[in-house]
Amino acid sequence: MTRPSPGNGTVFEPATAEDIRIVSAQLGRPARGVAGIAARCACGKPTVVATQPRLDDGTPFPTLYYLTHPAATAAMSVLEAEGVMTEFNERLKADAALREAYAAAHEAYLADRATLGEVAEIDGISAGGMPDRVKCLHALAGHALAAGVGVNPIGDLALERSRWRTSVCECSDYDAAGDETAGAVTVDDTAPSTPEGER
Ligand SMILES: [Zn+2]
Repeated sequence: MTRPSPGNGTVFEPATAEDIRIVSAQLGRPARGVAGIAARCACGKPTVVATQPRLDDGTPFPTLYYLTHPAATAAMSVLEAEGVMTEFNERLKADAALREAYAAAHEAYLADRATLGEVAEIDGISAGGMPDRVKCLHALAGHALAAGVGVNPIGDLALERSRWRTSVCECSDYDAAGDETAGAVTVDDTAPSTPEGER
């Protein structure tokens, strides 16, 4: 898996034209504001895309690390449907060390994003509910995959709990995506909830 080096004037691994094509197929719409690929599937296809903090049309975009892999997003949606966010919020309330680590994850996220430029409208705003709530496991898992284990404790917990594994490729045939949606493991159901949840 490829990951940036936070705080070192990071340049994200550039996305190739093929990466952009696959990310667009994963999302079911054209990829926007791609700054690079922040994490990859075992097979090498993108799992997390790094997105510019301001899109080409001027829209501020706080979600630097955007989980695009259909099997991974579906797995996070399953956890959310099972009530895991309520459980994690309760753990945060009860565990001061976890709260501290989660707040540090928020700062790390903002520092990574700042390497792509400062955007006043989203100053101090990260993603997924950070720094003190759990609101979107997709965003938190995306951060955990990009940064590596030990940076985002809630993202790490979500990935541990999930049936999806970074070591196992579950990519569908993106070339066939236009003709065959039947094999797309509930992706169509889960995708619309993601952007809203990540704000
Ligand atoms: Zn794969």
